[in-house]
Amino acid sequence: MRDLLVAGGGPIGLAAALYATRAGLDVAVREPRTGDIDKACGEGLMPGAVAALDDLGVYPHGHPVRGVRYLDGTRTAQADFRYGTGLGVRRTVLHGALRARAAEAAIEVDHRPVREVLDRGDHLVVDGEPTRYLVAADGLHSPVRRLLGLGRTPARHRRYGLRCHVEVEPWTSYVEVHWSGAGEAYVTPVAEDVVGVAVLTSGPRPMPELLAQFPLLGRRIAGRATSRTRGAGPLRQRSRSRVAGRVLLVGDAAGYVDALTGEGIALGMAQARAAVAALAEGRPQRYEGDWRRLRRRHDLLTGGLVLATAVPPVRHGIVGAAAGVPAVFDAAVNQLARPARAR
Ligand SMILES: Cc1cc2nc3c(=O)[nH]c(=O)nc-3n(C[C@H](O)[C@H](O)[C@H](O)COP(=O)(O)OP(=O)(O)OC[C@H]3O[C@@H](n4cnc5c(N)ncnc54)[C@H](O)[C@@H]3O)c2cc1C
Repeated sequence: MRDLLVAGGGPIGLAAALYATRAGLDVAVREPRTGDIDKACGEGLMPGAVAALDDLGVYPHGHPVRGVRYLDGTRTAQADFRYGTGLGVRRTVLHGALRARAAEAAIEVDHRPVREVLDRGDHLVVDGEPTRYLVAADGLHSPVRRLLGLGRTPARHRRYGLRCHVEVEPWTSYVEVHWSGAGEAYVTPVAEDVVGVAVLTSGPRPMPELLAQFPLLGRRIAGRATSRTRGAGPLRQRSRSRVAGRVLLVGDAAGYVDALTGEGIALGMAQARAAVAALAEGRPQRYEGDWRRLRRRHDLLTGGLVLATAVPPVRHGIVGAAAGVPAVFDAAVNQLARPARAR
């Protein structure tokens, strides 16, 4: 019988499979899609994600990112990463690099979705196949989470993310977050001649309409070729528990706060590592505490910031406040950016 099946061959599922191989577990991945998968994503890897990829021998080509800058048209706040460099990377490039590393490690990827999970006590049967454990890394709207009844009602304040690429030479090596009444647009340099633009908003509309709300950014990208838009949401997703018997939820499948602070991949990779460590010890329940520890700072800082965005006067003052107390802004950015370990 196989030790571990991973549902979802996105970045976090592939990272989980690589950690599992390194721990000596017999692992396979189920991913319905083929090729290098694209997805709505800001494509900024925090230093923690870069360090984790490095540790797994995954070196995607991208554009160095030295920190985060907030702008609202009149004020600017900026913080440099203190725990390593970030990286702007196209999703397809990141996925390609992870897939290549998984192929090198001889990890089998079966292109069928997971549809059925039966718990037999001392093992699971997934679509007729026995396995000791299942790690579900099947994304924001995780079918496995739903199948096991682990989902929770979505939050009332719903936010959505849209992303496109613009053919322009990056004008900065910071992730720029432009604030307006319509939402936040964040710009990530992802290659020598491309930037990614992700807009987060509670009122999704066509991308050109949203971008019109950010005049400073609009001037930078006016007249430039723009790719098709991808969308995702509602962003806030919650789960009742991260461990259900022999099934562990990681990455977005385990729940997601928001894309505003851009640490989804760093956090997901830390979760994947912690989940595999718990399984290698034969103590899956241990992962629940690890997940909570890993999530704490994101719940506090990202969750707090998102709550503040919903109150117009507070939202209006965010960039000014960040610029006014640079030490606090710097501390918050680096709290989220620093590499995470569960234990
Ligand atoms: C607008 C936006 C901007 C973002 N910006 C950033 C950023 O700048 N930096 C950052 O780090 N993070 C960012 N994120 C978050 C980041 O994209 C996610 O945290 C990350 O993609 C999670 O990876 P994952 O592998 O958990 O899920 P996914 O990437 O969604 O992968 C899940 C995989 O599961 C597969 N799957 C689905 N159903 C099944 C099934 N039944 N069986 C098997 N497989 C299945 C899917 O095909 C998919 O490939 C952003 C998110 C959004 C929406």
